[in-house]
Amino acid sequence: MRISKKEKAKEIAKILDKIYPEVPIPLEHEDPYTLLVAVILSARCTDARVNQITPLLFKKADDPKSMVKLKVGEIQAIIRPCGLSPAKAKNIHQMSEILLEKYSGKVPKTFEELEALPGVGHKTASVVMSQAFGVAAFPIDTHIHRLAHRWGLSSGKSVVQTERDLKELFPENTWNKIHLQIIYFGREYCPARGHVKEKCPICSKYGI
Ligand code: SF4
Repeated sequence: MRISKKEKAKEIAKILDKIYPEVPIPLEHEDPYTLLVAVILSARCTDARVNQITPLLFKKADDPKSMVKLKVGEIQAIIRPCGLSPAKAKNIHQMSEILLEKYSGKVPKTFEELEALPGVGHKTASVVMSQAFGVAAFPIDTHIHRLAHRWGLSSGKSVVQTERDLKELFPENTWNKIHLQIIYFGREYCPARGHVKEKCPICSKYGI
């Protein structure tokens, strides 16, 4: 069956709505600050591991004021299982200092301000804008990048291109939901290696 990219995206969205009618936010958090810290920790680490570590960190410090009172080394010792702990601990400490100095301890609500914080790139900023503030954004993680390519919705050349393509194909008011649905689908059905097209609820249907 030959359909346009836009139609395919629409059909995929319908299937994802059926499989994942609810889309809980994978990283446990209390507020925008704790989400921001959790997203920084999630770089090259699984959400499950981050969710094991954040309660230990947040017991000691769950806001910028208490975080800056910890030494970088103390943060590092707690977050070590998440990997890249020297850089992540430094970034969390510095980022908390900047929030106190420039934003009265609050997480800013613009991409520009977020992306200027240490350890915060466009993807992290997009997660916070989407999941903490409900602003339409399309954070592209490794799953979304892979699936968009496999589904033929994007060329897979770069995450920047994938974000641009998916934003064009899916209506803006669905971005916050569909990016999570694709992540869940990627984790459950679409492994990086060894996928079985015939068994797949999406590719088997559309001959992708
Ligand atoms: S067949 Fe399924 S698992 Fe394989 S690429 Fe398609 S969606 Fe992913």
